[in-house]
Amino acid sequence: MTAKRPAAGVGHQVTRVRRGLRRRRLGWTRRARELTPSQFGKLVDYHIHTKLCGHAVGEPMDYVRAAVKRGLPEIGFADHMPLLRIRDEHLTMEPDELPRYVSLVNELRDQAGGITVRLGIEMDYFPDQTDEIWAAAEGIEFDYVYGAVHYIDGWGFGDSRRLSSYHGRDPDETYERYFELFCKAVREGGFDIMAHPDLVKKHGIVSSVPIDDMYETAARTLRDAGVAIEINTSGLRKRTVEVYPSLPFLKACARHGVAVTLGSDAHAPQQVGMDFDIALRMLEKAGIREIATFERRERTMRGI
Ligand SMILES: [Zn+2]
Ligand SMILES: [Zn+2]
Repeated sequence: MTAKRPAAGVGHQVTRVRRGLRRRRLGWTRRARELTPSQFGKLVDYHIHTKLCGHAVGEPMDYVRAAVKRGLPEIGFADHMPLLRIRDEHLTMEPDELPRYVSLVNELRDQAGGITVRLGIEMDYFPDQTDEIWAAAEGIEFDYVYGAVHYIDGWGFGDSRRLSSYHGRDPDETYERYFELFCKAVREGGFDIMAHPDLVKKHGIVSSVPIDDMYETAARTLRDAGVAIEINTSGLRKRTVEVYPSLPFLKACARHGVAVTLGSDAHAPQQVGMDFDIALRMLEKAGIREIATFERRERTMRGI
């Protein structure tokens, strides 16, 4: 057990203090300040789940209504692609439910007046299963495909039900291996956007060594592969209490001209566009003035 473990005790307090400092420096607070409809009117929310994944609530149309209410002109569903070798009804839809998901989003697209609804997917990255996973998605006309590293060598580190799995693991090694896999996913995964780029921090683990080099390598890899990232606000609702990616990581991406889009990772209708005031402030701080939008996997940059 090391002082870096955030689960309890001194380590946890240190982590909280660090987080507090980080948030004060960036000038944001946990409480969201709602954007005006005209501010929302320039943004998109591309990371929305449906209850087919088994851990989201509400009817899909309620997510669309929530987006309309906030003034978002464009949203996209990106539910979890079925896992081929792991069966867990609380994690993803079953493989035979994928056609149902596609028709569900396409129906919403037709029914939703005044708002553009895109068909996306959140695909897990497993280095040895890339072909198999893409084969399962063959023939589907997605508007965009998110790549997500939720597993490190078979370890589902992002799974909130398995926090005890952090016991005895070295955070530095976890960070290193996560970013190795992230870069491999960018180069070899065939994705349009990388979801929650520094998800490794989700449960509050911090690296004891500076990680700027990892950000720099990841940003260069994204640029070379032409893959975008998202600003994912769901980290604010997790133990890390920070947006994915962190501001230094976002700035590295901005320096290298990596395209950026936005996602709330909504698992409930009220989470659509949540904390986008913070996302907007981060874009400003990173000097980013346009966001990436997608249609049939073609990227168009839109000024904000
Ligand atoms: Zn995810
Ligand atoms: Zn997600």
